[in-house]
Amino acid sequence: MFPVTKEAHGIGPVSPVGRGLCNLFRGDLSMAGFPIFVELGRTPPLIVGGGELALVKARLLLKRANRVLFAADRVVPGIAKLVAEGRAERISGVPDVETLRGRPVVISATEDDAEDARISHLAREIGVPVNVPDRPELCSFSLAAIVDRYPVTFAIGTEGDAPVLATRLRAWLEQELSPQLGSLARIAGDFRDRVAQKLRPGVQRRVFWDRVFSGPASAAILAGDEAEGVRRIEAELDKEDTTAPRVGRVILVGAGPGDPELLTLKAVRALKAADVILVDNLAGTGVLEHARREAEIIPVGKAKGRHSKTQAEINALILTHAKAGKTVVRLKGGDPFIFGRGGEEVDTLRASGIACEVVPGITAATAAAASLQIPLTHRDISHSVTFISGHSAGDGAANFDHVDFRALGEGSNTLAVYMGVATAGALAQTLIDAGWSPATPVMAVERASHANERRVATSLDVVADDAKRLALSGPAILIVGEIAGLTPAGAVERIAAEIDPQFQPVLSIRSQGDFAHA
Ligand code: SAH
Repeated sequence: MFPVTKEAHGIGPVSPVGRGLCNLFRGDLSMAGFPIFVELGRTPPLIVGGGELALVKARLLLKRANRVLFAADRVVPGIAKLVAEGRAERISGVPDVETLRGRPVVISATEDDAEDARISHLAREIGVPVNVPDRPELCSFSLAAIVDRYPVTFAIGTEGDAPVLATRLRAWLEQELSPQLGSLARIAGDFRDRVAQKLRPGVQRRVFWDRVFSGPASAAILAGDEAEGVRRIEAELDKEDTTAPRVGRVILVGAGPGDPELLTLKAVRALKAADVILVDNLAGTGVLEHARREAEIIPVGKAKGRHSKTQAEINALILTHAKAGKTVVRLKGGDPFIFGRGGEEVDTLRASGIACEVVPGITAATAAAASLQIPLTHRDISHSVTFISGHSAGDGAANFDHVDFRALGEGSNTLAVYMGVATAGALAQTLIDAGWSPATPVMAVERASHANERRVATSLDVVADDAKRLALSGPAILIVGEIAGLTPAGAVERIAAEIDPQFQPVLSIRSQGDFAHA
């Protein structure tokens, strides 16, 4: 198979290309190339032209074609040599439509503009893919830069925007990829029938191959010891228990605050392994780029116009899929065990005897602190940090009876308030009644780690008004305490400073070095 990119134009729906392309590319897709691998088959591809450019293109096609056909009256010595070696044939004269018909591809490299245009036109008329080097308007496909580890082929395309970038990427891949990668794929291919006979399709086969490709068998082959690799694959296959009933597993995964870079390596691995992903809307779409293309993604969070699933419905869905033998990822914003109801899901699974694993995530408070560059604890001004929720499980009204704010107010302590914007006024009053100064600094961070993150510096007495006035409507976390008065990094809407000229940062951070002792 030979990698080319076809104009998506006229090829039908592009959805199977994966969420990645659709998400990254939001402009006009009509001229964007779709990568496919074309069989160059028994009918040799046609190259029109006999110069050095034609020779270069022929060498490229000969990576996958047994033979090519040149249409040229005169040829350079390199082409004559290919003909002598039996890798190419040559015909003379101007090729007509019958010479083009049935070709897997045609490349017109005559270096004569009018002739190239004629060939392009003829080929398009009969639906034969055609390429004219450096003339995108005459091409119905483009040739990708190739890294060849047959049968593994990497095709790199940049839509002609950055050919030098493609060359650099190719050089980088050449250097990074073991020359034995092709052997690894070939050996896996040799085992396919045996694996298919012994293991059930779907999860069992995938888990087996995952183990092979991430384990010592692969390592041996990539290091050049094929015999050892084959032995180890045999051993893995012998170990497989084909009588065990199909049992799925569930991985509760913390997706972090939204920025996919803040996923853990384990979270990425879990996403890649998942057959089914049940996802909160807090989890952010970027993180789903790591899911397999075939994975079923079930949104279970609240969204406009969609009924959000109850916890009982979510638990039931997890169980149904796990019992069907699937690998289920329950993807939750931040950390699953911080105001994430992860505990309830784990209880349900335990009660049903389903294996469960928990992958922690970066919680909103630490993400907000990192982006403000304000530490949550500090040797001098914050001895503890308490995560509280502004939302109560019952009617949604704030209920802070369970926290001893008086005790926390006496020392230097920090509160990180989740789901606290709507009830910020009630919380502020409770804190002030418990002896906290009305001037206690508050930092509100909305959509921490997202591109449209907003930070607001305010104080207890005015936090509710500020939140309303700034229409903080996305998920936001409040950091309350002296620590919130440290000068934060980057732009902050310093609302409180406008209203209250007395509002001053408690300390200012001179350099990162100040954190060294924190
Ligand atoms: N398990 C999550 C919290 C879920 S509760 C975690 O560990 O982060 C939902 C609340 O989390 C939101 O109301 C908001 O207060 C906070 N939150 C979640 N993602 C956030 C983000 N990116 N920025 C700010 N706050 C966020």
